[in-house]
Amino acid sequence: MIKSKTPSPGTKLSSTAKKPSMEKRPSITSQLASIAKVCPMCGQSSHAGYAPFCSLRCSEVDLNRWNKGVYRL
Ligand SMILES: [Zn+2]
Repeated sequence: MIKSKTPSPGTKLSSTAKKPSMEKRPSITSQLASIAKVCPMCGQSSHAGYAPFCSLRCSEVDLNRWNKGVYRL
């Protein structure tokens, strides 16, 4: 008797293990980066020119605080 019908599970698994490369590219990192930059004074999105603040006014407020602290000492 000759064993002719002997299906090898190894080859079948390898053929079915192939997954289609259809993964979506996560664009959350870029969104988080923009969200993370917020004005520490008012909490609004910071401006590139006044980073990390949103405007000149907020940056001046922070500067005044620092100056007051320095003069006090
Ligand atoms: Zn602000």
